[in-house]
Amino acid sequence: MGKVTGFLEIDRREQKYQPASDRIRHFREFTLPLPESEVVEQASRCMDCGIPFCHGPTGCPVHNQIPDWNDLVYRGEWEEAARNLHSTNNFPEFTGRICPAPCEEACTLNLEDMPVTIKTVEQSIADRAWKAGFIKPEPAGEKTGKSVGVIGSGPAGMAAAQQLARAGHEVHLYEREPKAGGLLRYGIPDFKMEKHLIDRRVAQMEAEGVIFHYGVNVGVNTPLQDLLDKHDAVLMAGGSEAPRDPALPGQELEGVHYAMPYLVQQNRRNGGEEVQDLPILADGKRVVVVGGGDTASDCVGTAFRQGALSVTQLDIRPVPPVKEDKLATWPYWPTKFRTSSSQAEGAEREFACATLGVEGRNGRVTGVKCARVDAKRQPIPGTEFILRADLVFLAIGFAHPVHEGMLAEGGVELDKRGNVVADDMSYATCTPKLYVAGDMRRGQSLVVWAIREGRQAAHAIDTALMGESTLPR
Ligand code: FAD
Repeated sequence: MGKVTGFLEIDRREQKYQPASDRIRHFREFTLPLPESEVVEQASRCMDCGIPFCHGPTGCPVHNQIPDWNDLVYRGEWEEAARNLHSTNNFPEFTGRICPAPCEEACTLNLEDMPVTIKTVEQSIADRAWKAGFIKPEPAGEKTGKSVGVIGSGPAGMAAAQQLARAGHEVHLYEREPKAGGLLRYGIPDFKMEKHLIDRRVAQMEAEGVIFHYGVNVGVNTPLQDLLDKHDAVLMAGGSEAPRDPALPGQELEGVHYAMPYLVQQNRRNGGEEVQDLPILADGKRVVVVGGGDTASDCVGTAFRQGALSVTQLDIRPVPPVKEDKLATWPYWPTKFRTSSSQAEGAEREFACATLGVEGRNGRVTGVKCARVDAKRQPIPGTEFILRADLVFLAIGFAHPVHEGMLAEGGVELDKRGNVVADDMSYATCTPKLYVAGDMRRGQSLVVWAIREGRQAAHAIDTALMGESTLPR
């Protein structure tokens, strides 16, 4: 364990942020990393408790061996810490930045609201490992002669492709977009995670033998059957891209958009890509964001950086409690009042608020009609009000993967929610040689779950091709 008396002597300390007034002037990351000596102190607070829920199923979907690497950091053994961390997670610099960190909720010290700063330590290990040159390509010693096609280069596809290449297979990664990363690149804004981090991993994977093919939209400009004919196995990791439709009266008005086209545009701009559609920009506008999750928060932060006059976020849920009842919720993820860094940049937040429709004049949005809701989330008559708006973003999540094109051609079975059916041992669809992982299988989720699914699917495919696998599950 870290320092025996560490948690008694040392208070939790988190990374700080640039002040909101500074960070909204740019799109770069704005966290101020802790000095190394403080990261070591923070790691020493981990007491390697008897039942470390942090790395169990409720705490960490990839089962990072958190007490072990906290101890290694405390002892200054950074290279071994990086090796340990990479034994369970292909891309800890991604999760160290953008994971909501259920591990910290599950930390025993969280019973007193002072969990170990696990996410900060994770990011520090990964960033330091890159800087020190500990992270190198790990090409397979021997080739198997088998070839695997992976469709989609989000975290699920990238993790699977890296694992399969390291197992000795020839891996081809097919991506519709001009660059790799999936939602890491085109959904999540740069201010949460800069994209050179993805480019660095792509270079590592290329050196390990993964062959990236961009501009390949399987089921649209390239038949899935071509890939099934060419490869011994094909893994679909195409994400969950069909937006949930709120079906609001007036949502066809000019100025009302789904969140994704808006976020994708800004990410393309930041990445120096051409934006071909009409620009959606929030400068000088009153912005209303419908929805209370990550995507909504990312719209809020992007709108502030574009110079929005005001940003209001509408959430149908009641205001959650400021503090959870620990004994009822720990070590699970509790519902409690949380403020994202984007919301802290000045967003107005409306809770228990239903969006009834969008109002407009001359075809353009002018306001959003709202009402308070009761405990059953039904609008309460007489509580209606109008919020003035020049721009409205619909950010209420994703329904399921896109069914047209690749999935239709693959003849795969869909579950009640519209996701592709495959169990989490074999990751096999009902179509021979065809596998599925990530949001496309489990529905919209988190980067850490996508990495887990990619790793496990790689293990399943390796086993199916070779009869056994040395890849971790
Ligand atoms: P995706 O990341 O969606 O990648 C799918 C890839 O497949 C894409 O590159 C797509 O272009 C490609 N593709 C799709 N169809 C085809 C086809 N037919 N042919 C070729 N390529 C295809 N999670 C967190 O943990 N933390 C966060 O802070 C966070 N913020 C988020 C913010 C936003 C705006 C959104 C939308 C999601 C966020 N998430 C976050 C969720 C997380 O990004 C996803 O759960 C994760 O990226 C899913 O990974 P995936 O690999 O399954 O799919």
